Amino acid sequence: MHDLSSHSPYGIMIFMVHIVQKEDLVLRKKAEEVPVKEISSPKIQKVIADMKKALVPHEDGVAIAAPQIGVLLRIFVVSGKVFDIEALKDDDEESAPSKKKRHKDLVFINPHITKTSKQKVWMTEGCLSVRWLYGDVKRATKTEVRAYDERGKRFTRGASRLLSQVFQHEIDHLDGVLFIDKARHVEELPPEKHDA
Ligand code: ZN
Repeated sequence: MHDLSSHSPYGIMIFMVHIVQKEDLVLRKKAEEVPVKEISSPKIQKVIADMKKALVPHEDGVAIAAPQIGVLLRIFVVSGKVFDIEALKDDDEESAPSKKKRHKDLVFINPHITKTSKQKVWMTEGCLSVRWLYGDVKRATKTEVRAYDERGKRFTRGASRLLSQVFQHEIDHLDGVLFIDKARHVEELPPEKHDA
């Protein structure tokens, strides 16, 4: 475990892309907003690239928040896998022809939940920073999030089911909250015991 508390939010750049685990206090701090003018800077673009890179080796990893790579900034990335899983409509005009079956990763900077459904259901979740625990968390079935994309453009995205759950889980990370703080029926399922 490394302690990033004495570094700037960009301190991670000297480390390899490593996903911090639940004991690390960086996961318990409130992340800071990214100044919009800095979104296009090499520093922020590197953080986003590192987050995408960190997701690659994890087949079950559908999203990641910046604190999970030790960066206390309000950014999360949703893997294109989510859209494949949910078969949601996505505007991926930029995805390469060779990846036509894969949706591109979506980047959310300074996200705010602008709408939440009254309906909440218990949904099973896990976390790349809480290996290998799983539990049920009560989540709104629908949410709407307003954020900036990686080019600094403001957008709003509505979500239901898995993507709605992901939005709530990732925004919790930006506030120093882990799913195990709210979960019931938490159990350990090491990789050999499930096929995620
Ligand atoms: Zn997580």
